[in-house]
Amino acid sequence: MTDTPADDLKISFRSDVTVELVKHTASDADVLFAARVSTLGEQSLDELQKDPERSKGLINFLMRDRHGSPFEHNSMTFFISAPIFVFREFMRHRVGWSYNEESGRYRQLEPVFYIPDASRKLVQQGRPGKYHFVEGTQAQQELVGRVMEDSYRQSYEAYQEMLAAGVAREVARSVLPVGLYSSMYATCNARSLMHFLGLRTKHELAKVPSFPQREIEMVGEKMEAEWAKLMPLTYAAFNANGRVAP
Ligand SMILES: Cc1cc2nc3c(=O)[nH]c(=O)nc-3n(C[C@H](O)[C@H](O)[C@H](O)COP(=O)(O)OP(=O)(O)OC[C@H]3O[C@@H](n4cnc5c(N)ncnc54)[C@H](O)[C@@H]3O)c2cc1C
Repeated sequence: MTDTPADDLKISFRSDVTVELVKHTASDADVLFAARVSTLGEQSLDELQKDPERSKGLINFLMRDRHGSPFEHNSMTFFISAPIFVFREFMRHRVGWSYNEESGRYRQLEPVFYIPDASRKLVQQGRPGKYHFVEGTQAQQELVGRVMEDSYRQSYEAYQEMLAAGVAREVARSVLPVGLYSSMYATCNARSLMHFLGLRTKHELAKVPSFPQREIEMVGEKMEAEWAKLMPLTYAAFNANGRVAP
């Protein structure tokens, strides 16, 4: 279910997230020159293209032994559009991240809301700390779609009613739910992104498994795909060393 406009209120319902890499200075070479300053001083830049196998080995060594700072000399800025509940989790990542998010005080928030599609497992089984998710029944899927849609519609109508009566946006927004989409720019470096991915994706190569909420994982997967293209050696070393940030 993606970008389905509902007739009357012009409400949209989405099941996906948007991640766009809008700006970057990030390559494996950024890791290499930073690391080689240790032994080569200012000549470290000249060494970059000399021996690709040694470069690969050096990046792997840095990752394995958790020499983290050479992975910080790069920058990636992502535009992200996702439900507010995803942003609440996202912004817990404090170190090596910069954020700017759209304002509910300065603009009227758009009526775009999250409804999970059929691929989203709905039912949690097990106890806290040891559980897994299974598919919902057809009836549960229909219930989720219907109840969320009704609730979103009702809350957005209440929001509009208050705005129409002259109530400030920052007050009226109280009635909007965390399933509302927001948008932000998030800037990070490879080290902070690896830490994020280690916690917010589930992956067979992870030495320390994590159990993220599916929706933030959807954002993480898209960021990971962009980063993998920019820094292939670093990305390979991250996976080869159990997806633990150095
Ligand atoms: C599966 C999952 C479930 C979660 N459940 C909950 C929950 O129920 N409730 C909840 O509140 N949060 C929860 N969180 C959020 C979690 O506790 C972290 O806040 C979040 O993952 C960010 O991680 P971080 O602090 O390592 O990252 P960052 O803030 O980016 O920090 C990076 C690293 O810097 C160091 N660091 C940063 N700040 C400090 C500091 N003040 N003191 C010492 N070292 C510091 C640490 O080594 C840290 O790992 C959950 C996270 C995950 C992945």
